[in-house]
Amino acid sequence: MTDLGTTRTPIGWLDPRVAETVQGFDFTVGARLDDRHGRTGVIRTPHGEIRTPAFIAVGTKATVKALTPEQIDQAGAQAVLANAYHLYLQPGQDIVEEAGGLGAFMNWSGPTFTDSGGFQVMSLGVGFKKVLAMSTQGKQSDDVIAPGRTRMATVDDDGVTFTSHIDGSTHRFTPEKSMRIQHQLGADVMFAFDELTTLMNTRGYQESSVERTRQWAARCLAEHHRLTAQRSGMPYQALFGVVQGAHYQDLRRTAVRGLVALGTTDGGPRGFDGYGIGGALEKENLGTIVGWCSEELPDDKPRHLLGISEPDDVLVAIEAGADTFDCVSPSRVARNGAIYSRDGRYNVTGARFRRDFGPPDPECDCYTCSHYSRAYLHHLFKAKERLFATLATIHNERFIIGLVDDARRSIQDGTFDDFAAQFKGRYYAGPSRT
Ligand SMILES: [Zn+2]
Repeated sequence: MTDLGTTRTPIGWLDPRVAETVQGFDFTVGARLDDRHGRTGVIRTPHGEIRTPAFIAVGTKATVKALTPEQIDQAGAQAVLANAYHLYLQPGQDIVEEAGGLGAFMNWSGPTFTDSGGFQVMSLGVGFKKVLAMSTQGKQSDDVIAPGRTRMATVDDDGVTFTSHIDGSTHRFTPEKSMRIQHQLGADVMFAFDELTTLMNTRGYQESSVERTRQWAARCLAEHHRLTAQRSGMPYQALFGVVQGAHYQDLRRTAVRGLVALGTTDGGPRGFDGYGIGGALEKENLGTIVGWCSEELPDDKPRHLLGISEPDDVLVAIEAGADTFDCVSPSRVARNGAIYSRDGRYNVTGARFRRDFGPPDPECDCYTCSHYSRAYLHHLFKAKERLFATLATIHNERFIIGLVDDARRSIQDGTFDDFAAQFKGRYYAGPSRT
């Protein structure tokens, strides 16, 4: 990343210099963990390299909330993930395309990802915000809906009809529509449109959903090839298939095999460039489920774990073979006053921080920790000053990016197990954890 913010020339995929000098997308594997699927690698995109494992900063609406692109870069983020559903509703993919694509629109010169919108269409549609927060206790039903909410999304074999959470208008996403939107948004990595199920759906529904997602994946690939051919001369946008199957080992394996087979027909089209692991994952099963998928997935393709939660999940995911992952938590919890530190997560809003003039995390190298105290952050939060969100988000993003950077180095050095044990031991022993 260089010259961020120093030029107004669009640096997205419409820039002919980029089109001429950069081709395609590829992935190479580096060091590996013994007897497990964890590894290091490099993903090459038309907008630069991503050294993996890598944390992809979440910029849902083409912004990492409260941060400028320069601050995202300074926190060490290598790539940003935005969301097709949100950008389709606001401002509209046509405007992003006209601006020169997602990167140019938001002035981020590095690699970009877009999620397909499937998760948001369906999770907002049934009133849930986070799959990981869903409980498996109680009833199993195929008409699951959050308490007190009205169903806003209906799935059929062709696509999903949903109600906008912004103005109540009715919209329809199909695999083809999601591909057209994502091609217009212009990210380096896109995801196939998949059906999100919840852990409360029945086994029978999960089976039919895996098959529906496979059929949608085939339609996404076909539309992706058609759009790519139409846009010859533009840098290639990679497409990742999304593995569903909830917590069922056989369904996860079936899902992977079905997606991989879509690209191996003799003389057929190019298959997926990588794979996303999505859907309902309970925290305690995270490593096991990612491990099943890693066993089945082609070794030479990158694996992205969609939407994880907390710092310890990062280490479990890396060990089980995830190369990249996104997570909204660092910025979301920051805005509520929660600060990550090597000695555990704490709420800087507590009265005991009123006169604590030490940095948020004494071992952190971020801008916030280099210049500001817990007492100042506490004051900003209490005074409802907007600077709080910026300073807290800078720190939490840097914390998780730094954790992943350290994990990557430890795989290269052969010290991952010691590193992970030490991190977790200290993080969960922290007296200040809340
Ligand atoms: Zn910091």
